Amino acid sequence: MNTLVSVLYVVAFALFIYGLMGMTGPRTAVRGNWIAAAGMAIAVVATLLLPGMGNWLLIALGIGIGAVIGVPAARRVKMTAMPQMVALFNGVGGGAVALIAWVEFRTTDGYASEPRYVAIASLFAAIVGSVSFWGSNIAFGKLQELLPGKPVTVGRLQQPLNIAVVLAAVVCAVIIASGGRSEWLIIGVLVAAGLAGVLVVLPIGGADMPVVISLLNAFTGLSAAAMGLALDNTALIVAGMIVGASGSILTNLMAQAMNRSIPAIVAGGFGGGGPTGPAGPGAGDRPVRSTSAADAAIQLAYAGRVMVVPGYGMAVAQAQHAVREMADLLEAKGIEVGYAVHPVAGRMPGHMNVLLAEADVPYGALKEMDESNSAFPQVDVSLVIGANDVTNPAAQTDPSSPIYGMPILNVTSSRSVIVLKRSMGSGFAGIDNALFTDPKTAMLFGDAKESVGGIVEELKAL
Ligand code: NDP
Repeated sequence: MNTLVSVLYVVAFALFIYGLMGMTGPRTAVRGNWIAAAGMAIAVVATLLLPGMGNWLLIALGIGIGAVIGVPAARRVKMTAMPQMVALFNGVGGGAVALIAWVEFRTTDGYASEPRYVAIASLFAAIVGSVSFWGSNIAFGKLQELLPGKPVTVGRLQQPLNIAVVLAAVVCAVIIASGGRSEWLIIGVLVAAGLAGVLVVLPIGGADMPVVISLLNAFTGLSAAAMGLALDNTALIVAGMIVGASGSILTNLMAQAMNRSIPAIVAGGFGGGGPTGPAGPGAGDRPVRSTSAADAAIQLAYAGRVMVVPGYGMAVAQAQHAVREMADLLEAKGIEVGYAVHPVAGRMPGHMNVLLAEADVPYGALKEMDESNSAFPQVDVSLVIGANDVTNPAAQTDPSSPIYGMPILNVTSSRSVIVLKRSMGSGFAGIDNALFTDPKTAMLFGDAKESVGGIVEELKAL
């Protein structure tokens, strides 16, 4: 039986890796997801075949409850709510690892006859899993607006408090690893680590939350791998390492795209607040020029080159299909249409790529940030659809801005700009944007889907 289980595990690992390869592009992502899910199903079946498995009723009940909650939640979730969904699912993984560590402690009488490395790996998994569970729940609460998106801190006491709870968890773990048997010690590990998760994530602002979720995701992977080491379970080690490694790479890429260091993000204090004041020299004094769908359509129809700049608002409005229809009409008039995609536009990496792929926008028309920035000087009209922070010149001009240093799409180097959004309101970073009052910019106020729909009707009538 053990050989069969090992063979099934190897098949599952191959499917995980093959599935992950599919995630590198929107076209293959859905298939990749199915392949990886099939791998996970095989790994679960193989684990259930291991000798010593029992309690079938409880196992079936657990799978049943998980499926009843998870399947409808995953089917119904909107794309814009995906980060908090990932936070919840990821947190549950960390929580499961922490609970397994507790069970291990109980069944081995405090690791009495286990080798030292088993105790250490298990306690590491308990700490990191508990941090990940509680931290992910706070991240979920912030993104779901159940908790304030603004940084919540206890002021100067924050750092000493964070250090104190982490130390408390480590001290309890060291006592257990040195022979302590009291169950209160493992409870102390789990509670102190849980408090650490809460206290570290609360002071982080909403804008940094997707990065934090990705970081906690990597933590969950690491804790699962450590638990796999303690339980001598290869599937848990491999799956945990894949999650840990991919989560770490993703966290790094997101932090780089926002030009923020991971320690600075974890130190907290950015985003989710109200506007911080005028966005650049003279921004507050300049008039706002608004336009209509009819005028925007004429401006676009007489352009040679148009660059669509999508952002979070396009996702909220679900305007991608209307955008595709508009692009088809422009292309039929011989106008070249491209799409400038910022790596952190929207609320998760690849958000815009997924939406545009859903509307069958040709992949070749999507331009990465560097390519877009070189192309803007030759663009007649940049059509900014629900994007804000990723076009904010304050990132280049205002050293006091919280997004200073973040690479942006330089839409103002194109000949003219039309911005589609509902108001002069700020984006996720909570700051004003001088682009909206730039002399080159015209604002088309309204829901992005309705505004693009209006442009489409006008283009048809031209
Ligand atoms: P922003 O959050 O900066 O701005 C979105 C804009 O969309 C808002 O200003 C809003 O203005 C507008 N909007 C909302 N709903 C609609 C609607 N129905 N129709 C038209 N407009 C609408 O989005 P960006 O994509 O420019 O930037 C993403 C932000 O998220 C950045 O700050 C980035 O750092 C952050 N972030 C992204 C991550 C990622 O992986 N993608 C990860 C971490 C952070 P109004 O209310 O006036 O309509």
